[in-house]
Amino acid sequence: MIRVLIVEDEKPISNLIRLSLTKEGFHCTCAYDGAEAADLLEREPPYDLILLDVMLPEVDGFELMEYIRPLEIPVIFLTAKGAVADRVKGLRLGAEDYIVKPFDTIELLARIDVVLRRYKKCDMVLEVGGVKIDTASMRVWRDGEEISLTKTEYDLLLLFARNPRRAMYRETIYERVWGGDYPYGSKAVDLHVQRLRKKVGWEHTLRAVNKVGYRLEVET
Ligand code: CA
Repeated sequence: MIRVLIVEDEKPISNLIRLSLTKEGFHCTCAYDGAEAADLLEREPPYDLILLDVMLPEVDGFELMEYIRPLEIPVIFLTAKGAVADRVKGLRLGAEDYIVKPFDTIELLARIDVVLRRYKKCDMVLEVGGVKIDTASMRVWRDGEEISLTKTEYDLLLLFARNPRRAMYRETIYERVWGGDYPYGSKAVDLHVQRLRKKVGWEHTLRAVNKVGYRLEVET
């Protein structure tokens, strides 16, 4: 399980992040000031990722960064809107990325995904609904037989595989796979889902959700 340390003094933001990450299967620990975060880093088994607010009581995010750097744990800074100087400083201090508050949890999850992949902390092989996916080589198998997918189909497969039992809006699917805003009335998602279903044998597994989009019905 991926362990995330959330260092954020604003409780509503901290809670929102914790809830969204826990739903995705991450193990979260929260610290509400810099000193508490430093204590946790000393005592607890190593974290895989730290989400770090800049403005914190006691020890601020930048000071804490000096402490974190030797531990080689990837950091994503949470910065206030418009604080460009903070973002630059954060990246110079060795942060992997930053995200500007207020942010969408989908955006946060996407950034976490990128950072963890860069650090190779994500599961390399996923097995979902009878399909085996090797995310390092981007190869896919069903019942031992390799399946050839287009890049778009592969991205779509991975998105559903990483979000089992979750109703995904067409808009969200489009944003995550194609990037950018969903063009009104687009059939791209539906067409690709139909092809993907046939190729990987998910005709009864990847279900349409009325007026929403799709949900992958699997046991995990
Ligand atoms: Ca703060």
